[in-house]
Amino acid sequence: MSEEKKDKIKNGQVLAFPIPIKNKEVAEKLRETLAYVQEKANEYLEFAHKNKLYSVFDGNNSKYSYKVLEPIFVKLYKKSKMPSRINRGVLEIVGRTMRQVRDRMRVFNLLMKETNDPKKWTNKLLIKNEIFEKAHYVKNIREQVINYKRKHRNIPEDFYALQKPPKVKKKILTYAPDDGQAIKLTKNEDKIKLSFKVIDRCGKQIKWRWLETNIKLPSFLEDKQITSPDLRFDCVHGDYLPILDFKITVEKPKKQKSENFITIDWGVRKLLTLCVFNNKGEQLSQPYFANFCGIQSKLQRIYKDIDHWKSKRDKLLHKDSLFKKCNREIAKRWNKISLINKEISHTAANIIVFFAKHYNCSKIYYENLKSLKSRGYSRNKNHQINTTVRQKIIALTDYKVSLCGYSLQKPIHPAGTSSICPKCSHKGQHFSSSDNHKKQHKSLPWFYCPNCTFSADRDYVACLNITRKAIFKKNLKKCTKTVVYKKTRLPDSLFRQDAFATTHCKGHIYCLLGWIHSVSLSSKVVQKSFNSFKGTIFGILRV
Ligand SMILES: [Zn+2]
Repeated sequence: MSEEKKDKIKNGQVLAFPIPIKNKEVAEKLRETLAYVQEKANEYLEFAHKNKLYSVFDGNNSKYSYKVLEPIFVKLYKKSKMPSRINRGVLEIVGRTMRQVRDRMRVFNLLMKETNDPKKWTNKLLIKNEIFEKAHYVKNIREQVINYKRKHRNIPEDFYALQKPPKVKKKILTYAPDDGQAIKLTKNEDKIKLSFKVIDRCGKQIKWRWLETNIKLPSFLEDKQITSPDLRFDCVHGDYLPILDFKITVEKPKKQKSENFITIDWGVRKLLTLCVFNNKGEQLSQPYFANFCGIQSKLQRIYKDIDHWKSKRDKLLHKDSLFKKCNREIAKRWNKISLINKEISHTAANIIVFFAKHYNCSKIYYENLKSLKSRGYSRNKNHQINTTVRQKIIALTDYKVSLCGYSLQKPIHPAGTSSICPKCSHKGQHFSSSDNHKKQHKSLPWFYCPNCTFSADRDYVACLNITRKAIFKKNLKKCTKTVVYKKTRLPDSLFRQDAFATTHCKGHIYCLLGWIHSVSLSSKVVQKSFNSFKGTIFGILRV
């Protein structure tokens, strides 16, 4: 375990808080400095690749990479004309990239040990031997090797033949290993005076000087201890600006104890269905459904586009000028997908945290992702969309919820949760709606029990059954206990955070069939209402 991780566990969690610098002059100078730094970082990486240096980190767990790398890059550093503390920051970034490449190299070597045929490389192959690596590394390397094989007609000799020298693609510099010689911070109530060491170029001569600027701190950062930030460039509302990422250690919250908990079901049509219960098996809230359809079809369109560009690219030769264009178009779309996924998953995780706070729930139960089935056009794509988003939601919920002192429980096996009646435990039927019993199919959204005539939305039924599994801990078919509904009123306060949110929400909250007090949250409602209390409820959580 690295020092950094140990620190985290001991003292709480490290959160990054971004603050953009809007002063144009300062921004331009910082851009120039970071462009120079980027150039040097890439020179370092090329050197490391040429000399096969990725394994220098093996068996070394020190917190800072520069301690390992400084002696190796002495010669290059002398040529680079950078101040030593800037150099340390650069080495830190270089170290991060090198560690990533080293991890990929390890996966490559492990896979090569298994078999020479890249088409057989899967994550399962490694898991069989109890090796656990990141699944996307395996997928990525597999594709890379297959492409290499197509081009060179044989398998790469070693990892260095496969991998081009890595590059730092973004303008980024960390001041973490600095001791006041590259950045100076002076705190004055709600303001910080910052001095950066920046580059001054006159022809070929390179000089470094100090540049001063002030930034305003958000109120909740005022009483926190501020340490050296990371500096990076990114788009903020269409402007390309320098952003300082301040790192704040948040103390571990005390574990909250309460009888209430939330149950989450992943639907195919809905992003998630959420309901609040207590230990005795009483349902304390109406079910909430978060919608997903609109954005889902948008994602589908982008995936389709990617397929289109891929097939176009595969017909071309590598040298063709269009080949690069295709690659650019594909990359652009992947970027878009990851942005959308990020937004959906943050919003969904925020919904869950919000309800947990509102109903004072200390535990959150959810269904194992294995249950997700897809329907309609391109099942695989749908499945991919659904699982990636949900995996992200789970990861984010875990992190956000633990900051509040709540806990995400182990996933519950979904067998039978949406097909067994929550009242009498008989097998139910599925129809397209409550008043349409003509067509019956297991994938339809409406649940009906022929034994006791209980009828409800399918995802709500799943919520009830997950709860039964969680608290009564029995086989559903043998389970004789049911969940009782206690309250019926909708918590008005929920969307009355401010006048704007209420007026906006009115038109968008509507009842779903099967539960008269259920609420469906469309993405717009969620966005608006969250914007209104983003700062107050979530504090320094990044929303
Ligand atoms: Zn029944």
